[in-house]
Amino acid sequence: MLRLWQKFYYRMRYFSHLFNIPKNNGLSKLKTKKPRKKRCKVCGDVFQPERPLTPCCSIKCAIELTRRQNDQKQKKVKTVKRKELMTRSQWYSKLQILVNQYVRWRDRDQPCCTCGTTNQHIKYDAGHFHTTGARPELRFELTNIHKQCSQKCNVYGSGMRKEYQTFIIDKYGMDHFEWLESNDHKSLKEQFPTWQDIEDEMKRYRQLLRDVGIKPSI
Ligand SMILES: [Zn+2]
Ligand SMILES: [Zn+2]
Repeated sequence: MLRLWQKFYYRMRYFSHLFNIPKNNGLSKLKTKKPRKKRCKVCGDVFQPERPLTPCCSIKCAIELTRRQNDQKQKKVKTVKRKELMTRSQWYSKLQILVNQYVRWRDRDQPCCTCGTTNQHIKYDAGHFHTTGARPELRFELTNIHKQCSQKCNVYGSGMRKEYQTFIIDKYGMDHFEWLESNDHKSLKEQFPTWQDIEDEMKRYRQLLRDVGIKPSI
């Protein structure tokens, strides 16, 4: 009896490819329906994955991928730690670089705000009317910063305050000048309660610069 069943079974297996009967059991049909070929994320070789979400071609590549992912995670943790250790003044200096870069772009076609030179062969700064030391709360106020020639006005002329005052009144009006002079300004801590707020402002400036086709310098 057993032999007869065995004979039948083997015969069925032999012809199975003709009428598409699963060879061993129902599972084999699933097994034959393999996912599409894909490119290994590590070595770039094309391979036939056993399961749909397999990212690598081999164990060796899978180990390498895990190592890379761990490295990335650690890098992120390190970056956050480094940011948390940065002082406020370090953050402000970084933001200032971007704000100044933006001002230099904004005033690219303007002459020096205090002496009017348009000499192409000299260096220009983003000069503050109220200095960052005297009025820190105005260090990122865009109407307090303008293109200024570096040597004659910003550095040696100590900002040419008298000329700068005239420039601001001419450009923005007396009311605005008086507002700048007043104490009606939020402190830096109020402007940026946490370092993440400074970072967000940096991101905003980077985007502004990229939007006008300039690579942010930091
Ligand atoms: Zn691979
Ligand atoms: Zn000048």
